[in-house]
Parts: sequence; C-alpha cells; structure tokens
Amino acid sequence: MRKEMKSGPFIFFCLVAALWIGCQNHSGKERNGDTLPDTSSAVDSETRSGMDTECSDTDTVEGEFTADPVVITDRNWPENHGEADLCLWKDDRLAAFSFTIDDNTAPEHEWWIARGNEYGFRFTWFVVSGSIGTAWGGSWGDFIELFSLGHDVQSHTVTHLSGELDITAEYADSKAAIEEGVPGAKVLTLAYPGGEGSELNDVEVASEYYIGARGTYGANNPADNIQYMLTNSISGSFNLSELENTYSSLPALLNSESGHYRGWQCMHFHQVAADEASILEGFDYLGNNEDDFWVGLYREIILYARERDTAKLEVVSASENRIVLRLRDQMNDALFDLPLTIKVRVDNEWDNIVVEQCGEAIEYQTQWHNGNQYLLLPVVPDRGLVTVHP
Ligand SMILES: [Zn+2]
Repeated sequence: MRKEMKSGPFIFFCLVAALWIGCQNHSGKERNGDTLPDTSSAVDSETRSGMDTECSDTDTVEGEFTADPVVITDRNWPENHGEADLCLWKDDRLAAFSFTIDDNTAPEHEWWIARGNEYGFRFTWFVVSGSIGTAWGGSWGDFIELFSLGHDVQSHTVTHLSGELDITAEYADSKAAIEEGVPGAKVLTLAYPGGEGSELNDVEVASEYYIGARGTYGANNPADNIQYMLTNSISGSFNLSELENTYSSLPALLNSESGHYRGWQCMHFHQVAADEASILEGFDYLGNNEDDFWVGLYREIILYARERDTAKLEVVSASENRIVLRLRDQMNDALFDLPLTIKVRVDNEWDNIVVEQCGEAIEYQTQWHNGNQYLLLPVVPDRGLVTVHP
C-alpha cells in the first residue's frame, strides 16, 4: 500500500467560502414570527384530538426560509420556560473529534476494536475498495464486523488513484462496492487519497457523489466555517499543548480564548503500532473530557453540521402545560436524517415529561443547570412538530 504524504494540503482551489449559515441562540422572546404560521388553533385541535396533525414538512429548500446563524458562544442556557436552543454539536458537547483510518490497514483492526471497547469511541475506516482481498486490504467480512460494532466504513476510492480508472469511477465505484460489500453502510463521505496520483482528485466530481470529503491539511475545522468538500485533518499525532501550534491543538477546542473554540478536529491514521504510546495519550485526553467532546463518526459530524448550518428552530408555542417546537433544515431529507440536539428550558415542576414528534416518543436527557431544568432532545429536522409536556 502506498504511503500518503504526512501533511500539506491538496492543491485544490478552495470551495467558495460560502456563508455557512446555521442556527444558534434561539429565544422564544426574540423571535419575530415572520415565517411562523398561525399554529395556535392547530395546536389546540391537536390537544383535543390527542393526535399530531402536522407530521412532516415538505422537503424545504434553500431560500424558503432564512436559517438561523451559527454563532460560536459558550453553551447556551435559555432562561425562561419554553425557550429553546439548537446545540452547536450533538448532546450539547463543546467540540467534536473524529478518528479516521486510511488504506484499510487490516492488520491493526483488532487494535482498533479493542480501543473502541475500552474507550467507547467509534471510528471511521476510509476503505480502498479495490484492495479488498489482500492481506493489508482485509476482507468484506472484516468490515462487516467493524460496521456491526458501530464503526463506519466510508470511501477512499477504488485503487487509491493508481491511474487505472478515471476519477469518476474512482469515486463512484468505490461507493457502490462498499455499500454492496457492507450491507447497511451508507457511504456518504470520501477521503481524498494523498501521495502519488493525488493530483487527480477533483472536488467538483466528489461533490456529485458525496456530502463531505476529507483532505489532509493539518488543522482544526472551525465550527462555523467548515469546508465540507475539503475538510481539514491532522495526520495521526495528537497535539495536547494549548500554547503551541494552536492550529492543531486539541485543548484549544475547549478554550474560549482560542480562535479554535468549539471546533472539530479530525485525525487520520495509518499504522499506529510505532506511535501507540503517544496516541493513547490522546485517547486518554478525549476520555477524560468526554462531557465536552463529541467523538463521532466522520459521516455523522458532516451530517450534523450541514443540517445545523441550514436549520431554523422555532418555538411554535409555550404554555404552562405544553411546549411545541418546529425544526426545519434546507438539506435533502433522503440523505440528511441525523437528529440534531435541541436544548429546551422547562419548568422545574415538570416531571414525567413526554416528548413526541409526530406521535412517536423521543427519548431525551434531562440536565440541571443553575437550579433550572433542561431537556436535550434529539430531533430529525423536517419531520413535524415536536411536543413536550408533563
Ligand atoms: Zn490513503
């Protein structure tokens, strides 16, 4: 297997620095209701009938509403009953981290499985589909096992850009092969191969098949300006120093004084054996800060951030016995179906709280902060009104 360049960005033109707008900081009091339908009667009839009547929004597109802006702040704790906030990251974690493993690297699967069991983290393999059946490439059975353990299998092209195939085939055929080889896997993201042949990479072609793609520029990704088709990723070595090399510092993601506060760090690994001790320091750091880091699959972090960037959260109504929320986004609902986390402030007296979206119960977490009760709700955008009541 060819060795990839350890660092350095691909020579791509950057994608247009689009204004990735998203959503933060919702307050029922500040909402001006410009696009709100008059839902009071709908809510009343829903209450009377005991059924949700609005069970889906049509697939909303850009321009239909203005997404809430993504603003990097400390965690938000809405003050009043019924106020809600769309969390920057899953489960209101401060920052995100993703482990990714390239080039199949089958001889080390057992090492990763053991670390996953030990730390509770899940990892993403970027698979060279044409290498399946070799000692280094492993078998489909290997990847079926990893997938069954909650790890993920995404694309690293068919041949690692050996030159045998054109770039469309490299991107499209690997996606198809992996989805066939690992039933249930949704191959939505790509890691651009580095090293020899990397000049063949093409962001525009990748965009036709994938919703996100990983480059190898070794820096953190800012939460409010992710270049989805060319995300940054640091080559297999943790920088746990806050003061030096801030561009790759992991602690900087938790430091509100840092320009990287609340960002996402992605790391890519090949063989870990030689650097095991220092890599495990990084695992320990993440494990010791598990309340602050969302250690997620690459695909899920892309889904979350892109939904969030185009989302709008509305408090449709809030009374002393019911709160109704609406969450929409502007992404294709067939692909973008990951729940986003909504934090809602509820009366401290509320207990035995029920949360439903379209008649389906939603499991939620309860948090207390400064003596106030909050719920964290996992909600898929565009699936209808969410009702919260004791
Ligand atoms: Zn590679």
